[in-house]
Amino acid sequence: MNFLFPPPPEPTHDPAGPRCFARVAVALPVDRALHYRVPPALQADVVVGSRVRVRLSGRAVSGTVIGLDAVPEVARVLDVEGVYAAEARVDPELIELCRFVADRYGASLGETLESALPPPVRHGRGLRQITVVTLAPALADRARLKQEVDALLAKHEKQARVLRLLAEAGGPVKEIDLLRRAQVGPSPLESVVKRGLATRARVDDPGDPAFLAPPPARVAPPRPTPEQQAAVRALELALESRQHRGFLLFGITGSGKTEVYLRALEEALKRGRRGIVLVPEISLTPQTVARFRGRFDRVAVLHSALAERDRLREWRRIAAGEVDVVIGARSAIFAPLPSLGLIIIDEEHEPSFKQQNPPRYHAREVAMERARRAGAVVVLGSATPSLESWAAARADRLTLLRLPQRVGGGVLPTPLVLDLSHLPFTKHPRLLTDRLRAAVEQVLRKKEQAILFLNRRGFARVALCPGCKQSIQCPECDVALVLHQRAQRLICHLCGREQMPSVNCPACGHPGMRFLGFGTERVEQELRSTFRDARIARMDSDTTAAQGSHERILGAFAKGEYDLLVGTQMIAKGLDFPRVTLVGIVSADTSLSVPDWRASERTFQLVAQVAGRAGRSSRGGMVVVQTLHPQHPAILCAVRHDYEAFVASELPLREEADYPPFSEIVRILVSHADLDRTRLAAERAKERLAPMAGEYGVELLGPAPCPIERVRGRWRWQLLLKCKAVKELTRVVAWARERVAQSAPVRITLDVDPASML
Ligand code: ADP
Ligand code: ZN
Repeated sequence: MNFLFPPPPEPTHDPAGPRCFARVAVALPVDRALHYRVPPALQADVVVGSRVRVRLSGRAVSGTVIGLDAVPEVARVLDVEGVYAAEARVDPELIELCRFVADRYGASLGETLESALPPPVRHGRGLRQITVVTLAPALADRARLKQEVDALLAKHEKQARVLRLLAEAGGPVKEIDLLRRAQVGPSPLESVVKRGLATRARVDDPGDPAFLAPPPARVAPPRPTPEQQAAVRALELALESRQHRGFLLFGITGSGKTEVYLRALEEALKRGRRGIVLVPEISLTPQTVARFRGRFDRVAVLHSALAERDRLREWRRIAAGEVDVVIGARSAIFAPLPSLGLIIIDEEHEPSFKQQNPPRYHAREVAMERARRAGAVVVLGSATPSLESWAAARADRLTLLRLPQRVGGGVLPTPLVLDLSHLPFTKHPRLLTDRLRAAVEQVLRKKEQAILFLNRRGFARVALCPGCKQSIQCPECDVALVLHQRAQRLICHLCGREQMPSVNCPACGHPGMRFLGFGTERVEQELRSTFRDARIARMDSDTTAAQGSHERILGAFAKGEYDLLVGTQMIAKGLDFPRVTLVGIVSADTSLSVPDWRASERTFQLVAQVAGRAGRSSRGGMVVVQTLHPQHPAILCAVRHDYEAFVASELPLREEADYPPFSEIVRILVSHADLDRTRLAAERAKERLAPMAGEYGVELLGPAPCPIERVRGRWRWQLLLKCKAVKELTRVVAWARERVAQSAPVRITLDVDPASML
């Protein structure tokens, strides 16, 4: 032993608090919880679940107390430096759920706990307080009010004004708003209060006025169809049993799934239980929320676009038991809702339920686990279920419920698949074939509406020099820059880097760059030049950057203010448009050529979803698909809305290649700014994994460069673990993590069930 450092002091045991060493899971990729001493001053506030501030390697970090011990693990421990407000506490059940998530997805418990809390809660921030002014109750009597106003008018005109505005408001008014509208300073208001005509109070800032809006008018629920009734009955029985059960509700859009959710929630509430409804972020529109608020009194909404104070307030209401139904995006699965009885995941096949940064969880898996622990019922709803859920239903792990028909009748649109492959190559390829063009023309003539879909934004995909034949690449990423004409920029869709488009080739100076390929912006332009009188809107992430613009465009289209709507997958969801009689898919191939085993499935889902936008009324409709692969089952089945035919063609291919749902895939991504180091690290990872792979029932693939080999200046290589006969995936994840443990500065990340292979 050497004594360069003084020997550690005796551990200090505080006789008053025997368990005064907190095990803290810090919000960093650190696997083990670390001990910190809880100083006497903080002991009353620190319990299991408390959020605390501690020091790690000289840095202040936040963490969560996951245990309290009498004796520290190591002799020298630092003190807990601070504790966040009690409302930031994590419920012990949530800690356990996070432990499952951390283990299954190879993240640290601390990181997972951190991401389960919305930022304002995570950071222990409080609500802003504001002052509101309320009319004295006695003045609710109109005669009495008039008398007071009249009395003031003569000598104190400003006070009269304040009083009148208050009366008009019909409820509490923010003091600053009142003063601004009355155009007076604080003293007239002061006098009004002194006279006992109004009161002032400090309250939590209620934030977004939408939250204060009265709930939408109660709508009488429609009488359920026999199929809806059967589905609700099955859910009711499961709720009654108080056992965990999972259901797959399979029904095309408009078949009445949401109505089944609403009734199932009613059944849960009748039994004193509550529900969480997860929807993809993009479909979390005011319309969706209004549908739930129209049926239930106590609804909370959670998603990342909410202002901080709104998120905080909703979180508090949920934790306090003031809410029966929580609607939210992915992370709402961690909402601290007591007496949970029902979890609904609408559009369960959507990739947005998978988180892209640590912990890389899938909300569907977390929902199943949370429901299992709570003895709750899970309903996964979709028109195009994920193959994972379909396979689970076939294996009786989920109970299949079907809604085979659209409620309002409505005919499925007539499909027309156009083969682009034999069209001659021209210098300026026309984006719309004659058939599609004619179909649009007819729609315009009949004063109906059409949707044109292309899942690529921008104007031209590639800027090519006719001299040196080089395209302009992003200097940091392995992709070509995309021309955005309105912005007059070449933009990298991976890192966002922008530059001015130049007339001459930046590499060789050759004049006359050519711009090839197309996106939604170009489709819009072609439509404008072809149909000069048509009113055209475009919806993609370029036109919807401003808050509320998404809503605005869809709303205007629904009201008939536009004839044609061009857009990316954003337009696939949202409102029903009864006047849409044509859906044109400008190219169905954008998602088909992606090197990913889910490419067919995603294409099927997208095309089916967009195609489902046509013919929502008795007018019927048509779907025109332009593609280079007119025989592809994903496309053919999608336009016919034949999910089961698609599954019948796709599942055997997955099985043959051992892809999910017949295996679990773990992706190990290795990245570094230097190519050689990246490759070497990837090979080293393989060497370390190989000896035990067989024993774990794991097939190792790679290393190989990722399809996009460089992003933001980092080279990217990957290894895939295909886990076929794996009983316990978490053991494999733990093993793989340990074997390839961080070898900084090379970055190695593990992604269980990756949503993308790019
Ligand atoms: P999905 O969620 O499957 O797309 P919805 O529940 O939104 O379907 O139903 C589609 C439309 O049909 C909605 O306007 C809804 O109000 C209406 N609807 C649902 N069930 C019924 C019913 N039993 N009777 C009449 N209308 C219904
Ligand atoms: Zn880039």
